[in-house]
Amino acid sequence: MTTIRQQDLIQSIADAFQFISYYHPVDFIQAMAKAYEAEASPAAKNAIAQILINSRMSAEGHRPMCQDTGIAVVFLKIGMNVRWDDATMSVQEMVDEGVRRAYTDKTNPLRASVLADPDGARKSTRDNTPAVVHMEVVPGDRVEVKLAAKGGGSESKSRFAVLNPSDDVVEWILGQVPTMGGDWCPPGMLGVGIGGTPEKAMVLAKESLMAHLDMGELKARGPKNRAEELRIELFEKVNALGMGAQGLGGLATVLDVKVLDYPTHAVMKPVAIVPNCAATRHLEFELDGSGPARFEPPSLDNWPKVAIDLSAGAKRVDLETLTKVETATWKAGDRLLLSGRIFTGRDAAHKRLTDLMAAGKALPVDLANRFIYYVGPVDPIAGEVVGPAGPTTSRRMDKFMEPMLSSTGMLGSIGKSERGAEAVQAIKHHKGVHLIAVGGAAYLVAKAIHGARVVAFDDLGMEAIREFDVKDMPVTVAVDASGNAVHESGPREWRAKIGRIPVKMA
Ligand code: SF4
Repeated sequence: MTTIRQQDLIQSIADAFQFISYYHPVDFIQAMAKAYEAEASPAAKNAIAQILINSRMSAEGHRPMCQDTGIAVVFLKIGMNVRWDDATMSVQEMVDEGVRRAYTDKTNPLRASVLADPDGARKSTRDNTPAVVHMEVVPGDRVEVKLAAKGGGSESKSRFAVLNPSDDVVEWILGQVPTMGGDWCPPGMLGVGIGGTPEKAMVLAKESLMAHLDMGELKARGPKNRAEELRIELFEKVNALGMGAQGLGGLATVLDVKVLDYPTHAVMKPVAIVPNCAATRHLEFELDGSGPARFEPPSLDNWPKVAIDLSAGAKRVDLETLTKVETATWKAGDRLLLSGRIFTGRDAAHKRLTDLMAAGKALPVDLANRFIYYVGPVDPIAGEVVGPAGPTTSRRMDKFMEPMLSSTGMLGSIGKSERGAEAVQAIKHHKGVHLIAVGGAAYLVAKAIHGARVVAFDDLGMEAIREFDVKDMPVTVAVDASGNAVHESGPREWRAKIGRIPVKMA
């Protein structure tokens, strides 16, 4: 019988979530470095370079690699011969206390993204609790913990279906991945769960992502079962789709594919996909009664020294004198370095702004000739003007694009990944533009922000409208004033170049 102290589990969970907020798993970074070396698409290579530079900066600075520091997911295997010493909390409560301490740590505060009452008030719980906990009781006298901080952009691109027994899993997945676009911040991993019941398939997909990347080893030794055959086939075919880093078109969409399966009912084949983004953050440890887990910081030698000049080939833009006449000359794919003032705003702020417009009321900010950056930054610590502040998913703001462009005189938006048809149409109609920063490069983006102040909707916390002073903020024109979109042209071009998936050219 092993005795585990409540305090040891709490401390280990807290330390682990802090650790993964700034250290990518070494195997993930090494796979990303290989993808960088092999990438032939200039746009995708630039994006991967930013992800790698950002990752090293986070590891050095002990600050989050992404502004979305995730929802806490914890898998526990609790030995049947474990005894809890003087426990006053349930295991869920212990895990939540660890999450609370990690996310409110004053030396490296993480963003509280979790909201209670999801279809009602959607109010922040303020400390990112509760965690999503999966528990199993197993033989033994240890507590095994696997945990991850899952970003909302990738989680929201999860897919699920109950296929017929004769349906082809690969065909279904290859149909789904293009619909996920760049919103899940590839390159990353796909977790696939097959079988069981609907909820079991989803949990299998999530659990599969807790494993290390080993696609190279698997290919070298060959598959031993159907799940491993599928991993290799999916790895090859998903990459042949040419989605590439950030959905810009390129060779590396996935660095690995994981598959877990489970017996299922004769009449069905449940299949789930859960992606892991560029901010892949997971860790595992074991408690054996000897105290809290200890996590060894990885050597920075594991991070490649990426020699890239992000300003090479980029146009410098003065936001203080910018007009629609100039933005109309930009072409999809142009890289820019922005200097001057921009406003921030995302879902809740857009809702309030458009509600005010609909009511004929004045807006709290003058958006004429300005950009709105879709971001919810991490709180700053001493010495920072803002915490990590990377872009959030642009598509969530699609329905606001028409009223925002038609009524405010704003020049356009900055976010991550593609826009839907509704937003592209509004951009084309009003001669606006949409720019993208690299999702998952939040600490790097924050270094380009030299001033930050809340200017409206303070009560919205991380969703308040801020004004940022930026200097050489790296962005790419994703949708130009004519409605040309890099997320359409890029993957089409690279799918054709890779040449393994039939491409219908427009
Ligand atoms: S890398 Fe992208 S999907 Fe992942 S947490 Fe960051 S913004 Fe979200």
